[in-house]
Amino acid sequence: MSDLEPQCQASASRDCPPAAGAPVLERISARASVIGKDFTIRRALPSRQRRMVGAWCFLDQAGPVTYGAGQGLRVGPHPHIGLQTFTWMIDGEIMHRDSLGYEQVIRPGQVNLMTAGRGIVHAEDAVTDDPGRLHAAQLWIALPDAERHREPSFHHYPELPVLEWGGFTVTVLAGTAFGQTAPAMIFSPLVGVDLACAEPAETLVPLNPAFEHAVLVLSGALEVEGETLEPGTLLYLGTARAQLALQSQAAARLLLIGGEPFAEEILLWWNFVARNRDEMVAATADWNAGRTFGTVSGSPSPPLVAPDLAGLPIKSPR
Ligand code: MN
Repeated sequence: MSDLEPQCQASASRDCPPAAGAPVLERISARASVIGKDFTIRRALPSRQRRMVGAWCFLDQAGPVTYGAGQGLRVGPHPHIGLQTFTWMIDGEIMHRDSLGYEQVIRPGQVNLMTAGRGIVHAEDAVTDDPGRLHAAQLWIALPDAERHREPSFHHYPELPVLEWGGFTVTVLAGTAFGQTAPAMIFSPLVGVDLACAEPAETLVPLNPAFEHAVLVLSGALEVEGETLEPGTLLYLGTARAQLALQSQAAARLLLIGGEPFAEEILLWWNFVARNRDEMVAATADWNAGRTFGTVSGSPSPPLVAPDLAGLPIKSPR
């Protein structure tokens, strides 16, 4: 997906409070944003209070929504650099097309992972014009400096580790959790887990104390370490936790993300993760001039135009 806000704000990790270094409970409101045509999503990362959780630097929840004929997702071709896009599909279907020639429908329970590296273009559209439903989480993972210029690649993961734990169905999306390792190709120590319960449940989730973590309720309501949490609020948990107490009174779904605090300063603007303003200016010029990035075939949606560079700070991080 793509940042389509008219006032595209840069997000510099140096502006962000560092990882807490201790367990905390910090509530962060997701804000409504628009992607594609009239498609409202909730953006939990980056926010003013928190830019990253480990290498996770972007988190959108799309839906759950029911849409009419011809009203499905339409995010036309747009570029990315320096990051991986990570799509976790909960309900509905999306067609991914990219400049490497991949054309892949993603369905519930599956992950699409696109490694932008030095540059790639993709489009994400509803598969048909029929009415439908959509519920998905899209995340971005910042690539460490040693990997951010790598050749772009795309992976579809149709099957992920799934296990039962304390009344929850646990899907390991990325990294290792509950003794299971997800297949996603990652370049930093991080973890992503989906926990869903169909009825009241209570459990302790084991965590890596070296990681910082955050949770986002995707549906229903949960008590997390005694904090009542509903969709629309990211709960940042800090580091140094060996476990997390979860309790639900009814069906609910939770996304848990975590990772080793990201040691490098990054700059996030529009669909790019880079290190300084010059890199952003160059990538924007290349995209707007039709250079470097390649093209996507088959998307019914028009390509996106990069927003005005005025949203970029003049002073850039080192
Ligand atoms: Mn995208």
